[in-house]
Amino acid sequence: MTARAQIGVTGLAVMGRNLARNFARHGYTVAVHNRSFAKTQSLMDEAGDEGDFVPSESMADFVASLERPRKVVIMVKAGAATDAVIDELLPLLEEGDIVVDAGNAHFPDTIRREEALRARGLHFVGTGVSGGEEGALLGPSIMPGGTRESYASLGPILEAISAKVDGTPCCTYVGPGGAGHFVKMVHNGIEYADMQLIAEAYDLLKQGLGASAAEIGQIFAEWNTGDLESFLIEITADVLQHVDAETGAAFVDIVLDQAEQKGTGRWTVQNGLDLGVPITGIAEATFARALSGSVPQREAGRAALPAHATALEITDREAFVEDVRRALYASKVVAYSQGFDQIAAASAENDWDIDRGAMARIWRGGCIIRARFLNRITEAYERDPQLSLLLADPYFTDAVGEGLAAWRRVVAQAATAGIPAPAFSSSLSYYDGVRAERLPAALIQAQRDFFGAHTYRRTDRDGSFHTLWSGDR
Ligand code: NAP
Repeated sequence: MTARAQIGVTGLAVMGRNLARNFARHGYTVAVHNRSFAKTQSLMDEAGDEGDFVPSESMADFVASLERPRKVVIMVKAGAATDAVIDELLPLLEEGDIVVDAGNAHFPDTIRREEALRARGLHFVGTGVSGGEEGALLGPSIMPGGTRESYASLGPILEAISAKVDGTPCCTYVGPGGAGHFVKMVHNGIEYADMQLIAEAYDLLKQGLGASAAEIGQIFAEWNTGDLESFLIEITADVLQHVDAETGAAFVDIVLDQAEQKGTGRWTVQNGLDLGVPITGIAEATFARALSGSVPQREAGRAALPAHATALEITDREAFVEDVRRALYASKVVAYSQGFDQIAAASAENDWDIDRGAMARIWRGGCIIRARFLNRITEAYERDPQLSLLLADPYFTDAVGEGLAAWRRVVAQAATAGIPAPAFSSSLSYYDGVRAERLPAALIQAQRDFFGAHTYRRTDRDGSFHTLWSGDR
């Protein structure tokens, strides 16, 4: 076996297969392998003439077909399968070789794997890949972690196959250890928040205007020409205008209203709790999916809980649509601001030195949350790389400030009409909390000192204090 392939992909289900084709289309000689040979064979049958592939039936032949330092991309089911493939690869690799896990690994697993492979003289690159199967083929957003040294030889190949926006690749070095998979996790968390906010906007328009799905789809199409322009708004417009072929009904009306999840939202929220970072937008979005799937509770709630609500009476439809648009934009900025706080906190805790502006830049294309306004986030972090609150960047302060009255109206209308809008309303509460001169947290500290002698700090002098409360009861 001649070692002539510049990169190899093992795991040729939808993602690996398309990634391999993407490498080949960019002129790389690609070694391809899958646990069961059938997938390798079908890739060769269907796309073998698209480029230079070197198929192998055994892992040993696959590794032997790669130029050194070898670059092996693992694209298998995340979890135990990744460990199984690494174990099979290890005896076949040599010092300096680079193992890339492009699956959706949980970042603590990536930290563990990176340490283990580093101890054996190998580079381990845990990389986020976003954009689904189409992105993998046509240009995904790629978030690679690991050593800078490995990025020097691997980076140009990943940048070549990534999406490009204004000629800039949607791929850059993220940071050491688990940084790449961490950033991908937060990306997915933000995606949850974005989708929930869009869903709430749809619900408000539906209930407020009594509009059809197709009509609301047209509103989203219109929104996609402005500040909100993004992949998710674009597909929402399409989905809402889609008709179910079988019944002729609006497609969205025949879909069961129970949202599922694969777990990256949950991981993001769990990590937010660990770090103590209030990612309320992502958390509300994750819990909203959980509520939608809480079937017995929903049945009991539907049967027993009164609404005491007043239906919305919208007289100026255009003004209401504009209010909802502004509320959506402002809530979205909050969700991103919180997500970037989470990245900053994890980066500080793990010494990852993640450049938040660069993350916004590589999310501009290829991935699910690609959006026009990510440019604004990059600019904000360029203005101040240490920015402690994205919302406090002058651009966003103005942009959100302009819509503040509308945002408050919409949240109030939702509450009055009994329309659940957890992400809209909790984002507004976060906004008011983070800008508050003084929070009722003072009372919580006093209570904690009362019942648990947990001590408190004072506004007028330094130090920790405890009050002897016994005489107060
Ligand atoms: P998948 O359905 O997650 O996994 C199937 C692949 O894993 C097959 O190639 C399978 O080999 C292999 N595999 C499973 N167990 C294995 C084991 N014990 N040893 C060796 N190989 C094993 O495939 P996918 O949807 O293409 O996703 C691949 C990765 O990309 C996953 O980590 C996924 O989370 C991530 N990802 C997916 C998307 C997406 O849109 N689908 C987007 C981003 C990231 P056999 O053919 O032999 O069964």
